[in-house]
Amino acid sequence: MYRKWLLDAKFYLVLERIDADLAAVARAGGCRVCNGVLHSARFPRRPRGGPLDLGGGCAWRHSLCCDTDGCRKRLTPASVRFLGRKVYLGAVVVVATVLRHGVTPVRMERLRALFGVSAKTVKRWRAFWQETVAASDFWLLAKARFMPPIAAQTLPMELLARFSGSAEPLAELLRFVSPITTRSSSESEPAF
Ligand SMILES: [Zn+2]
Repeated sequence: MYRKWLLDAKFYLVLERIDADLAAVARAGGCRVCNGVLHSARFPRRPRGGPLDLGGGCAWRHSLCCDTDGCRKRLTPASVRFLGRKVYLGAVVVVATVLRHGVTPVRMERLRALFGVSAKTVKRWRAFWQETVAASDFWLLAKARFMPPIAAQTLPMELLARFSGSAEPLAELLRFVSPITTRSSSESEPAF
């Protein structure tokens, strides 16, 4: 089911709309340093793992820059498409990690064929969810919302299951975890 979404360009349009919303909210808040006006300073990203017919949408990550001379602070809004500095689309990182639960050689081979990722990469993604995300300030607060609690070693699979009631569970999950994609919280995170 998740695989089908990943190959559906419409799903990325939903993610793109959410990203545009997140950027608009960040922009409306103004510069966090000097309260100045923010303007768009988006930058190109070459995400891997999406369908071939994405169009231009996923090639840019929203970014904002302060207009005030002497400040010029850059603010990168949260994103549901890009997880931190990872070059793979956020959705792919979630789905591949979910598929990796109880992985068999056959399933790993399928992951490799679908996304062109190695077993090593998927292992790193799993560590990202179950160690980096699980230990983040974001998750320490966010996990309180879920009852029964979600164990770190079931991430992101169990988290996705908790959004299964919504029309776009994967988009909802990505929106929920989007605070971890902002610069301040991903600076210490290694690039993949
Ligand atoms: Zn400023």
